[in-house]
Amino acid sequence: MNCCRYLFKFIPAGLVLAVASSFTSAFEIDGSKWFGAATEIYVDMEGISGTGILWNAAFISAMNEWMSETDFTFNLIEEHRDPCQNDGLNGVNFVADFCGAEFGNNTLAVTILHHQSTLLGEPDIIEADIIINQAEDFDVFDGNLVQFGPTFEKIEFRRTMLHELGHVIGLDHEADASAIMAPNIGDLDRLQADDIAGVNALYSGLDNCQIQQLRFGTISAALDNADCTVAELTVGGTDNSFIDLYRFELSATTELEFTMSSPTLESVLLLATDQLDFLDVDTTIDADCNSTLSATLQAGSYLLLANTYDEQIGPDCQLSGAYQLNAVYLSDSPGLLGSSGSLLGGMSAAQFQGGITADNGLSYGNKFKPEDSLDISTSITVDPNHVGEAGFLVAAAIIDGVVLLLNEQGNFVDSWVAPDPIIRAVSKTLQATETFAILTDLVPASFGIDTIVVDFVVGYGLDNAPGEVYFHQSPLNLIVAP
Ligand SMILES: [Zn+2]
Repeated sequence: MNCCRYLFKFIPAGLVLAVASSFTSAFEIDGSKWFGAATEIYVDMEGISGTGILWNAAFISAMNEWMSETDFTFNLIEEHRDPCQNDGLNGVNFVADFCGAEFGNNTLAVTILHHQSTLLGEPDIIEADIIINQAEDFDVFDGNLVQFGPTFEKIEFRRTMLHELGHVIGLDHEADASAIMAPNIGDLDRLQADDIAGVNALYSGLDNCQIQQLRFGTISAALDNADCTVAELTVGGTDNSFIDLYRFELSATTELEFTMSSPTLESVLLLATDQLDFLDVDTTIDADCNSTLSATLQAGSYLLLANTYDEQIGPDCQLSGAYQLNAVYLSDSPGLLGSSGSLLGGMSAAQFQGGITADNGLSYGNKFKPEDSLDISTSITVDPNHVGEAGFLVAAAIIDGVVLLLNEQGNFVDSWVAPDPIIRAVSKTLQATETFAILTDLVPASFGIDTIVVDFVVGYGLDNAPGEVYFHQSPLNLIVAP
């Protein structure tokens, strides 16, 4: 987990890992890849092949084939950059030697990769340069490599570049000859299923793991062999530690504090963007097994990752087991409350926001003192199809698994002893935006409450379907503690 350690390696090199797939042949990847599945490439080679195709055109055609067959993106910049320069820019050109050293026997071209370590998984690729041995006799043609006529004994350039671009993307050599990524050039002139599957697998890590919506407040979970591993998430490497992923969305700049605590699990917390660009990590190994991570994040979509180590560090903290995750936030505006759900499975485009403030809207958060005077308010953007309909609003408070519903007198009552239909907080004609104050000027201490955790959920329904309620997936959490 060392930050900013630069590695330098030639392809093919390094650890080779076969990743299971539905294909019988197995592409080879070690897990190093480009962040965001895209890179820029500088292309401005002089000259033209014997068959009359510009080297540039053949190269760009090979780039475009990778782009049309996979989700990887090459952004073409039609300028020259010296591929032997370690300048952070991806260049390609014919060269007389291996950037000062000798080319190996029969070497047609080499891709030089530069890496940068990342918090999890194999190092990212940050530069890839292709050098082409100008002593070789290249031409551009389709079909079998050995031909007669004008291309007799020529080396085919386009498929050579197709192969090198595979290295640029992050593929290693595939021993099976039925791939462009086979170590030796052959009769194949287009990408094969194995090449395409390799790229798709290399860049699909987030699809390998289940991602849960983060709930602010406290949740109980566990890391064990039912979970994703870092190697599965990052597609490569040997880090088989378990990892849980929690997604959350912020609508404004927000201060966050996460605590992962366990008496027995060596806890490691990480923060990343929803594209898995790692932002922060807490790897503290203290007397206990806990991990705490604080951050101030801009509006956006993020992942909190609850992880451990791949090898046991201390005698008392294990690599699997139960943990509690505590999430506290403070923002200057109300937050998003997750995607829309419903009691009976109906779909809606409703959106929900909410916040709890003790300073009349200067700040919103989920952790307060018993003496604070709390305003708990929500805002529902009603599905356009429901606007103008006769309907109702519902508010629930969930305390230790018990669901209380707000009635029209403004009291929370136990829903399980209440008769059908659902208890309504308000009956009304639904407007496009419903501003719904659940509680105002609530001072927990005045009710003798010193410590409590409550999850609030609001929703709405229509009179013509009174059993259906549209609500948000992420509760509005309140923690009161001295
Ligand atoms: Zn190669």
